[in-house]
Amino acid sequence: MRVIAGVATDIGRVREGNEDSYVSDAPLFAVADGMGGHRGGEVASKLALETLEHLFRRGKGGGLADQVQEANRAVFERQRFDRRVAGMGTTLTVAVHEGDRVRLAHVGDSRAYLFRGGELRLLTEDHTLVRQMMNEGEITGAEAEVHPYRSVLTRALGVDPRVAVDEGMIEVRDGDRVLLCTDGLTGMLTEDQIRAILDAAPDPQDAANRLIRAANRAGGIDNITALVLDVRTDEVGDDRAGAGGVAPQASPHPTPAPQRPRPSHFRRMSPARTAVVAGGAIAVLAVGLVGLRLYLDTQWYVGVSNGHVAEFRGIPATVGDFKLHHVVVETTLSAADAETLALYRGLPGGITAGGRKEADAIVNQIRADLARLPVGPST
Ligand code: MN
Repeated sequence: MRVIAGVATDIGRVREGNEDSYVSDAPLFAVADGMGGHRGGEVASKLALETLEHLFRRGKGGGLADQVQEANRAVFERQRFDRRVAGMGTTLTVAVHEGDRVRLAHVGDSRAYLFRGGELRLLTEDHTLVRQMMNEGEITGAEAEVHPYRSVLTRALGVDPRVAVDEGMIEVRDGDRVLLCTDGLTGMLTEDQIRAILDAAPDPQDAANRLIRAANRAGGIDNITALVLDVRTDEVGDDRAGAGGVAPQASPHPTPAPQRPRPSHFRRMSPARTAVVAGGAIAVLAVGLVGLRLYLDTQWYVGVSNGHVAEFRGIPATVGDFKLHHVVVETTLSAADAETLALYRGLPGGITAGGRKEADAIVNQIRADLARLPVGPST
């Protein structure tokens, strides 16, 4: 088997820089979606991929998951010691072609899909807050798709010294297509739209280009990256995937056929979400917040604590037993009084603030508005 790749990346129509990065160099393929202020996101995604590629080419750092672990460490240490990129992180979704198999490793909310026989199947699980809330039965899939915090990651490279890496392996056959993409694609297009484009574009490069164009037409609110891998039977039987001889699992010899037929030709990666839950509330808060994409790195909101107006740090959400916020200031202002004003009716659900100053300003405004109430605040 050989793989023919097509790849495209685009800044989109809203962002000022492209923080997505990719590697397309058989047998190694990967996409990474960086995040972090300034140029942090770009640095994170590039550093992760450079580290991975370096180790992979030299056959160092153990297996694929270990190499991803090393990439995590590289980003973690850089953001820890370089103030200009403090707090940066990145997703990473990797596919390695090994004869009639594709090995996968994954952290974050970029995705891998298998397109086979006109069907599109998701191979990865998003490491996002909403996905976790779905798993906990707190929200439905439909709610997750439009949830304001759908970009909050529960796992990313560069956040902690170690990261839990999902691993998977699929068997591939002639005509299969593997798609690696960032959330700038999946956030803009439905799976059915993606499926239709993959179906209509036989050439992988053309397919990648069309996916980008469609995501831009749909709004392009994020950077977009699409990597399309077409699996073809090699007529001369020469598997070039292992030509470099550097990948620990890549072999120049044909991979032996599996001893037993498998129930399915691919298996979904295990969710492996226990790591986050076991880490406790503080870890969830820290990891969740670092993953914020569409909002500021540090979230503030004004809400209700013990019946009083209060300033919170975090986001007004709960995962399982863990609250993703804590009270910073509890005022003496009555929340019930504030809620009588139309402007503050949303107080129980939290009024988002752009930072500490804005939270203070909202509280001051509530105080001023309550003082102006014709009958005065009740007790
Ligand atoms: Mn993105």
